[in-house]
Amino acid sequence: MTYAITQTCCSDATCVAVCPVNCIHPTPDEPDFGTTEMLYVDPKTCIDCGACADACPVDAIFPVDRLTGPLKKYEAINAAHYEGREPAPVLASPTFHAWGEPAFARSLPSDFAPIRVAVVGTGPAGMYAAEDLLLHTNAEVTLIDRLPVAGGLVRYGVAPDHPGTKGAGDALARFHTHPRATVRLGVEIGKDVTPEELAAHHDAVVYAVGAPSDRRLGIPGEDLPGSLSATSLVSWYNAHPETAPEAVALGTARRAVIVGNGNVALDVARILVSDPAALAATDIADHALAALRDSRVREVVLLGRRGPEDAAYTASELLALGHVPGVELVVDTHDPRIAGAIDAAGPGDKAALLRDATRETVDWTRAPGDGGPRRIVLRFHSAPEEALGPDAVRAVRAGGADGPAEIPAGLLVRAIGYRGVPLAGLPFDEATGTVPHTAGRVDGMTGAYVVGWIKRGPSGGIGANRACAAETVGSLLADAVDGRLPKPAGSAKAFARLARDRTGRLIDARGLAAIDRAERARGAAAGRPRVKLATVPELVAAARRGRLRGPVG
Ligand code: SF4
Repeated sequence: MTYAITQTCCSDATCVAVCPVNCIHPTPDEPDFGTTEMLYVDPKTCIDCGACADACPVDAIFPVDRLTGPLKKYEAINAAHYEGREPAPVLASPTFHAWGEPAFARSLPSDFAPIRVAVVGTGPAGMYAAEDLLLHTNAEVTLIDRLPVAGGLVRYGVAPDHPGTKGAGDALARFHTHPRATVRLGVEIGKDVTPEELAAHHDAVVYAVGAPSDRRLGIPGEDLPGSLSATSLVSWYNAHPETAPEAVALGTARRAVIVGNGNVALDVARILVSDPAALAATDIADHALAALRDSRVREVVLLGRRGPEDAAYTASELLALGHVPGVELVVDTHDPRIAGAIDAAGPGDKAALLRDATRETVDWTRAPGDGGPRRIVLRFHSAPEEALGPDAVRAVRAGGADGPAEIPAGLLVRAIGYRGVPLAGLPFDEATGTVPHTAGRVDGMTGAYVVGWIKRGPSGGIGANRACAAETVGSLLADAVDGRLPKPAGSAKAFARLARDRTGRLIDARGLAAIDRAERARGAAAGRPRVKLATVPELVAAARRGRLRGPVG
């Protein structure tokens, strides 16, 4: 028997560190780490000890004999990763890998005076950096977020029907109450407090502000009512306090067109056609659940410029898309290259997973019906050309093998990637939407660092941030040892006073715990894991109310 890694793998490699026989790959020191869609267990070497399953932050690892339903395929998916790999010449073992030199996280000399580091952004990138600093040095860490609640993209980006993935956030959240961590939420750097003021109270600042904006399509009609970004839609269904409940109106749309072929596009498609009764068991925003209960959307069309062999989504997300209860997955065969690519795909290729999908050359004059199953239609080799109005989106013209197709739709969602935004006081590269840096050190600045999407651009899942953070923290610690960090003029308390004076609503770890308790209590009353507070005033009020009553927990 062996274990297998499954759909929710976050690739943060926590499991790699605990495997006694080094049979989970790629490891962070192997060249293909960060390029594969997930990590894989080598079934020939696994000794079935279960250590990886215990360590996995997202509950993605199971014995293969416990895999059921769509997860069953992961036994073959794990094994396929090792097929055809040559034994390592050094060991001449049946596996391809060899033990490398032991790698230790960079630390500081034991007699080094504690440094104080601010981490701006409490999503996965910032929290991996904080974890690295708190576990491997005696640094004090100030965790800062412009929102009155922590979590970043784990709280506001992960789809509500992926609770396993949110487990990565729970694992990182334990550092909110670390004795050397101080939580300061509801303060925006660049608005309430300047980067210079922040730097003056810390030895170093790590910016983990992500990529909150989105890329545009650049087609006529893109700004019509009914056309919106996936970032707005994701924020809407995740109860982001800066996205109003009215920001998304599903109206009478029976069909939605989503432009994009990445995992975010698949998330949005799934949420739009999932049974609202199933979503009611998640932490989806109350207002989104109500709108989806009233929704008339019966079909979502995903437009991809390239073929199924080049789609940007991961195999695991596509596999899940084919198993949404009551939803039929359809491939539009308008272009002969599409069926050709699916038929020619090898067992480890993503396109092979579409063999179970319905194939159909879709007749766009047919209205999505109420009677049949809800559908997700994948239309490859088709770029959007225009959103047709005149007053609101009523159709999308998209390219096709035999000329453009006019696809009637009341909703157009662009899901072609996130984009970073400039932060006052920091350099910014408009072309890449990132802060220019060298190994995490912000170019032209001292004591300023970046991590996550604002550093490397909007690619890679949650776990990719662990290695990214390790590089940045390594640069920071090297600078500390070399005496290149400017000494802070102000104390941690002085920073808290400054931030509180400017915002009047600073939330600390006790307030954060109070928000968590309030949301879980609302959820318990509704039979749900939590009901999120969806506005800044509600979040702040819960933090203040609960802070007076309960302990951190
Ligand atoms: Fe490694 Fe044990 Fe997990 Fe097998 S079950 S992959 S041996 S940690």
